[in-house]
Amino acid sequence: MKQLSVKLKITLCYVLCVVFVSFAVFFIMNVTITRSVEKNMEMQLSRSVDMLAKRVADMRKIPDFELFRDGVQMAVYDENGNLIIGHAPFEIPASSEFAENGVQKNKYNENKFYEYNKKVILKNGGVVWVKGILLSNGENIFAKQMFKYNLIFIFIMIIIAAAGGYYMMSKTLSPVDKIQKTAQNIIKSKDLNQRIKIGGGNDEFHRLANTFDEMLDEIETYVKREQQFTSDASHELRTPVSVIMSECEYMENYASTVGELKESAASVKNQTQKMSKLISELLAISRMDKGTQQLNFEKTDISELTALICAEQKQIRETSVTLETNIAPDIFAVADEMMISRLIINLISNAYKYNKENGKIIVSLSEENDGVILSVKDSGIGISEENMPKIWERFFRADEARTPNDDGSAGLGLSMVKWIAKKHHGKVCVKSELGQGSEFIFEFPKHSELAAV
Ligand code: ADP
Repeated sequence: MKQLSVKLKITLCYVLCVVFVSFAVFFIMNVTITRSVEKNMEMQLSRSVDMLAKRVADMRKIPDFELFRDGVQMAVYDENGNLIIGHAPFEIPASSEFAENGVQKNKYNENKFYEYNKKVILKNGGVVWVKGILLSNGENIFAKQMFKYNLIFIFIMIIIAAAGGYYMMSKTLSPVDKIQKTAQNIIKSKDLNQRIKIGGGNDEFHRLANTFDEMLDEIETYVKREQQFTSDASHELRTPVSVIMSECEYMENYASTVGELKESAASVKNQTQKMSKLISELLAISRMDKGTQQLNFEKTDISELTALICAEQKQIRETSVTLETNIAPDIFAVADEMMISRLIINLISNAYKYNKENGKIIVSLSEENDGVILSVKDSGIGISEENMPKIWERFFRADEARTPNDDGSAGLGLSMVKWIAKKHHGKVCVKSELGQGSEFIFEFPKHSELAAV
């Protein structure tokens, strides 16, 4: 069976409530009105009988018209039930035994009526009975009319309640419909570009629709970033792979001397190293994204670590660039040693990479209040104003940084630096002037583990 929609269900509940309340009011009204009409008739009957009884008691002559007053038919009987004057309507027989028990509701031959008997002691000591009969059709007609009008009124009310309720529900639930349609369209078209864009209103459903739009924004950005990442990663891997392929082809078909073979093998080795570096960076980034990158916070001698890395870097670089250090001793911080090393190496590598002939690098380490400040300053090519915010993006490389003897940098280093800084509850920023050099400053609290998540 087809499920009813929510708006139909709510409208039905609402209409049922209206029907219930209407019928309750209708019932109470009917009972009250019928009761008051009955009371009225009973009073009418007893008043007419009492008046006639008074006349009979005075032994006055009773004209015929006096036996019929306000719709009440009356008759006078002797003590044995024999009719003296008047006549009983519908041949209702006189009760053989009269009793003074107020107004009674009786039925005879399908005729319903009120009956009232009154005992009268005559002046001469005799006893007679005055009987009054009032047909009860009058109040039935009134009740029937009332019933009819009430039913029409209730019917109109139900129609208005149903139509009004359905309209209100449709309006109130329209954001939900839009959310459902948008979600359906996204599923069908696989296009995350669509939005509900409901605007106006600030009720729960409007807020839900707006939150849904915000969530779609987030998902779209995330999916785009993922797609971009995959495409950039494959692009970066394609270059070394095609160089390796062509070197292998050359070795197979054309290289004839050991020297040529060695040269090609060296090229293959170089490309493989680049690929390996890139793959390990990609793995690190994927672990960072997934949150599976384990961080080991422990008390670390940052001064010693920085000095060690600087010495190592000086040793492995065959370049005209000189590296100077200005490292304050005994600066300890609770940090992940491996991650902090990675950050320092990245910054120093960049300072070498983007430096000029006979350029200079100054690595400084100091502490301030409860924080550690590391600065890596170079006299290199610098970064343009325009590129300054972009260097933190994945795979971004400024054109001026693309050199023919590219060492396989894929533009992932600084995005990792930023992630590591964030995980240490620190911040990293850059000051740079194109053609003059750059300074990267990393600041983090000594007890970053307290805030680390
Ligand atoms: P890459 O692997 O290309 O070095 P990074 O993420 O480390 O990737 O750096 C991104 C870009 O930022 C570099 O390609 C370069 O254009 C710029 N950059 C980084 N460090 C420096 C620097 N010290 N001097 C000038 N430009 C820099």
